[in-house]
Amino acid sequence: MTIKIEKNVPVVGEYDVVVCGGGPAGWIAAVSAARCGKKTALIERYGFLGGTATSGYVLPISGVHLRGERVVGGITWEFINKMIDAGAAIAELPHGHISFDPEYYKLIAARMVREAGVTLYTNTFISDCLTEGKRVNAVITESKNGTEAVAGKYFVDATGDADIAFRAGLPMQKVERGLQPMSLCFLLDGVDATTDLLKNCIHHDGKGQKRSVNDVIHNYLSEKYEEGKAPQFGGPWFNVTVTGNALAVNVTRAAADATDRDAMTAAESQLREDMFAIVGLMKEAYPEFKNCNIVSSGINAGVRETRHLEGVHILTADEYLSGYYFPDTVAKCSHPIDIHSTSDQKQVCRSLKQPASVPYRSLVSESSENLIVAGRSISADMTAFASIRVQGTAMALGEAAGVAASLACDNGDCPVTKVDTDELRAVLLSRGGVI
Ligand SMILES: Cc1cc2nc3c(=O)[nH]c(=O)nc-3n(C[C@H](O)[C@H](O)[C@H](O)COP(=O)(O)OP(=O)(O)OC[C@H]3O[C@@H](n4cnc5c(N)ncnc54)[C@H](O)[C@@H]3O)c2cc1C
Repeated sequence: MTIKIEKNVPVVGEYDVVVCGGGPAGWIAAVSAARCGKKTALIERYGFLGGTATSGYVLPISGVHLRGERVVGGITWEFINKMIDAGAAIAELPHGHISFDPEYYKLIAARMVREAGVTLYTNTFISDCLTEGKRVNAVITESKNGTEAVAGKYFVDATGDADIAFRAGLPMQKVERGLQPMSLCFLLDGVDATTDLLKNCIHHDGKGQKRSVNDVIHNYLSEKYEEGKAPQFGGPWFNVTVTGNALAVNVTRAAADATDRDAMTAAESQLREDMFAIVGLMKEAYPEFKNCNIVSSGINAGVRETRHLEGVHILTADEYLSGYYFPDTVAKCSHPIDIHSTSDQKQVCRSLKQPASVPYRSLVSESSENLIVAGRSISADMTAFASIRVQGTAMALGEAAGVAASLACDNGDCPVTKVDTDELRAVLLSRGGVI
């Protein structure tokens, strides 16, 4: 059964650039466009910024360095330095993971958005968009204010799930293998992290990481899994929250499509059971965890993969792994090809020999004149995706998307596929971008 609903919806703002989603790609895109002098809106479903970084307790920003060489600059590097100066982040070199405190992340990101003059709509979910030909005219939002519309000349889709591109009817790639699983990450207090069992595998603490996965606990949980006493899991990977004594844990694992509400409901309810089951096993087995407590879990399960735009160019594994340099490169990447198994406890990791490049044409589609996709849902095949998905790259792509939208505005509202990429790259370089 369907019900037809017709209603008049107020247009609450008209902007040069509307950025959808305030995760790593989105909030940087908004700052980027606003610093180009564009009237910019940022719309986010939660009451804070940071996306998976803060709502999912994915604490390291990865993909910023490759063997000590920095591959991300611009607004992202400025933000990381603000967090370091506040004592809320550590840059672990040469691996280049940036550990951070999630509360400071929210605070400093919100300040930068405010200082750039962005109009921020939080607690606002984008449910649809209005299109005319190849243009998006407005996004439809739901909040305590009811249904509203936010109109714009250009839109950046940084929802992670390509929600706007999907609603606007842009083509999406077919996923050739299972989507990478999601994980409900959480914070523990009361853990003795100074022992040999833990100290060398507390990833990203800048104190000489030996191995990211804790093999001892992995093997123990694997045995329990074989006996039917542990749920599906990956890792565990541990991180520090920098300013406090909490240990961030990434260990649960569920395969589900997060763009399907019912699948997400089932997966999150299972993951919550699994989180308690796994912590219970660790408490029993290791004195380090005997007195620990779960103090908080992610607002939602961390989602690794959903939709992928089928853009002007699908970035391929060959291009990625060979370090092919595109003339319209807008971001450089350093994270390994990092694939988490949907069916067992494995993770396949393949390091890059040299930085990989992302071309601007992987952010846009011939099917839209005014929509740019940034972040993990850009047009990349499943292998390249398994590296570009990390935060450092998402943030660099956000900055590029913000500048591109601004240049399109300046250039007589030209289609996003026709943006002068030499000019785009020149702006990124002038801001300290590493491309
Ligand atoms: C378990 C796990 C571990 C990971 N480990 C690492 C790691 O160690 N290092 C690393 O760098 N990366 C890691 N990642 C990857 C990384 O966190 C994400 O890929 C990255 O955050 C993607 O950024 P994004 O901006 O594209 O999307 P997201 O972080 O998903 O942000 C999207 C934003 O849009 C908002 N949004 C979505 N839909 C709507 C809508 N319809 N209306 C309004 N708002 C909306 C969301 O609330 C969110 O704020 C991990 C991911 C997971 C899940």
